[in-house]
Amino acid sequence: MLSFLKNIFGGKNKVIVRFAPSPTGELHIGGARTAFFNYLFARRNGGKFLLRIEDTDRERLVPGSVDRIKAALKWLGMELDNEGHVMVQSERVDIYKKRALELLEKKDAYVCVCSKEKLAADQEEQMKMGRPPMYSGHCREVGIKISEVEGKEPYVIRMKMPKIGKITVHDLIRGDVEFDQSLIDDQVLLKSDGYPTYHLANVIDDREMKISHVIRAEEWLPSTPKHLVLYKMFGWEAPKFAHLPMILAPDKSKLSKRHGATGVFEYKQLGYLPEAILNFIGLMGWHPKEDREVLSFKEMIKEFSLDRVQKGGAIFDVKKLNWLNSEYIKKAPVSELKKSLADIFGHDFIKKDLIDKLINLSRDRMEKLTDFKEMNEFFFNLPNYEKQLLVWKNSPLEKSFENLKLVLEKISEINENDFNKAKLESILMPFANEIGRGDVLWPLRVSLSGKDKSPGPFDIMGVLGKKETIRRINIALEK
Ligand code: GLU
Repeated sequence: MLSFLKNIFGGKNKVIVRFAPSPTGELHIGGARTAFFNYLFARRNGGKFLLRIEDTDRERLVPGSVDRIKAALKWLGMELDNEGHVMVQSERVDIYKKRALELLEKKDAYVCVCSKEKLAADQEEQMKMGRPPMYSGHCREVGIKISEVEGKEPYVIRMKMPKIGKITVHDLIRGDVEFDQSLIDDQVLLKSDGYPTYHLANVIDDREMKISHVIRAEEWLPSTPKHLVLYKMFGWEAPKFAHLPMILAPDKSKLSKRHGATGVFEYKQLGYLPEAILNFIGLMGWHPKEDREVLSFKEMIKEFSLDRVQKGGAIFDVKKLNWLNSEYIKKAPVSELKKSLADIFGHDFIKKDLIDKLINLSRDRMEKLTDFKEMNEFFFNLPNYEKQLLVWKNSPLEKSFENLKLVLEKISEINENDFNKAKLESILMPFANEIGRGDVLWPLRVSLSGKDKSPGPFDIMGVLGKKETIRRINIALEK
């Protein structure tokens, strides 16, 4: 591991970024957007994109989520530059403790033994007095030695936050953001279970991984001044920071489950292509120079820059996602669509004889791949329909019957090998034009599909083939 770290972190690479999820469940759209902006920034600048697992909050762990998150990144097409060497914080507990003790030694941190009950009572008191709930500072002044508590009673290590002055975060998207240090809590660095908090582990790891730019969601901005103070205490140069705009629902509220699917794999199951999702999340808070909407992976890499990331919330508009998805379905190779359909409906589904023809027939009309099944069900099973459906507008039923009979005669003469859309059109269109298009084509189409809406009759016949076409017209005639 160490020599590998030296290779990737110690080289000439200027830009090194990381995606640092906590394994508390599925990769959701917000996380995917953070990962993608990091990925784009790395690729755009010839840098590295690394994954780190922040699993020190043991209570929130969800088993299996690390694999699910990795699989989702892979499905979206964001390859990692530390595959097989992903940093996992729970494996590094000793390192964090050593660093916490180092700060203790320097008096930049202190041992705190206040009980949960005391902390809660103190906070309640502060709120009553209209102050923000913060640690009272009780143990800050006491100077408890670690040897007095180690192995004897529960303790935490807190950072000794400077209590006067201001601290400025130079954010690459937001510009300078100032924080009043007196309002920043004495953050716990090492918890009573021996694990570090997010803040301590995050700073140590970003340093060890030689992260050049921390690109993360806006919700972490209030943590950044604490991190800056920690860098200073350790005597390290801090990375650059960029905080990405919040993702909002169309009604401008925070995006959540009640607005629909949030997990990347939920979108996969609903029939969205990874290219469409990437295009969509790429535009959540960023836009290219000419405001184009359909951008390939390569185009986004070529054009990405942090100064085109907006400060204000980015709207998650599912209508736009659907439109983008339909654009990508139109262009995707049949083999890719088949693979995605198999992921959704199972492998047997794509083994059906007609599948290639049906994909080509319906790709221009689908918003999501899940539309495919409903749209094409009638090819496999003719629905039972009312005979009245065969009637075009106010024409009498007999007319439909007569015309269908004539159509049947004409197509019976066509050779099975010639039974394709072009040939059928050349034979039946002159007849339809003569008799009246509606009176010929409508009953024909209904007899083939059993539905009031479907692709045109020539398309359907081309897919069904001669035998099935004749069988279906006969069913209609019997009605
Ligand atoms: N573990 C944090 C998260 O789940 C990472 C925040 C950061 O990138 O610093 O979002």
